[in-house]
Amino acid sequence: MFSRTKSPGERRRVYLSFMPAAPLVEWESLKRCSFDLDDGPFLGGPHFAANENNEYVIVSGDYPSALSELVEVLYRLNLVRSGYDMNANPDSLTDAAIKKMPDDRVRDFISQIVRADRLNEGTLQRFVNNMILLQLVRAAYDHEVFNAKHWPKALATLDEQHVAKGVVVRSRTNKIEGRTTGGRQKCPSTSCSGWLLGVLWETGQQMHICSEGWHFEPSTDEIHVIGGGDISARYISPKPWGRPPSPKSLWPSKVELNTKTGWKILPKS
Ligand SMILES: [Zn+2]
Repeated sequence: MFSRTKSPGERRRVYLSFMPAAPLVEWESLKRCSFDLDDGPFLGGPHFAANENNEYVIVSGDYPSALSELVEVLYRLNLVRSGYDMNANPDSLTDAAIKKMPDDRVRDFISQIVRADRLNEGTLQRFVNNMILLQLVRAAYDHEVFNAKHWPKALATLDEQHVAKGVVVRSRTNKIEGRTTGGRQKCPSTSCSGWLLGVLWETGQQMHICSEGWHFEPSTDEIHVIGGGDISARYISPKPWGRPPSPKSLWPSKVELNTKTGWKILPKS
């Protein structure tokens, strides 16, 4: 009785129990796409245009790679469902309404928009341009990744004002590395419920970057900037967002960097 073979599901559970933490990479891609689309140009919908024979034909709307990736990730995360409230009307949703919306309702609206595009091409582009789909996607991310205080559930805090020093931080383009300096405080922007995290970049620039523009990945124990400026993670207008990285000639030497908070190599205890 004890020697029966395990079903694939059971084997998987046993394997997963040894994993450090559930990866959130799909959620990271989802929110990253929302910022990439936010930065991108206004998306044209399907329209009539003349072809080489001078016949008017319907031309598909703009479909940048960030949009196709967004839709693929939405399906992979089961955020596009078959059973949803078909009467949900996303047209006049406001940012404030989306922020207060329960998760189930957010998923209804996302399902509604993505599925409506199959019957009425151009729906997706319209809901990217008016930001409603992007805000719904960020709300779904918040519900999955953040706790009630809007802090990443997977990122341990030491106390209200502190997190571990020395956590690896990567810039949005993944070209510049930083380390956490241990400080944490509420974001002072009135419209923002995020948290500022102290980072010392290898460029020598010390800053506090808001959790709205970065993601903590528990499977690699790294923080990635996903929105706004490359190292500032600042996405609220006006552009240019926050401080850009300084030129390489101004960066501190590795020896000097390694004497600073976050970069200092601590003796193993
Ligand atoms: Zn903020």
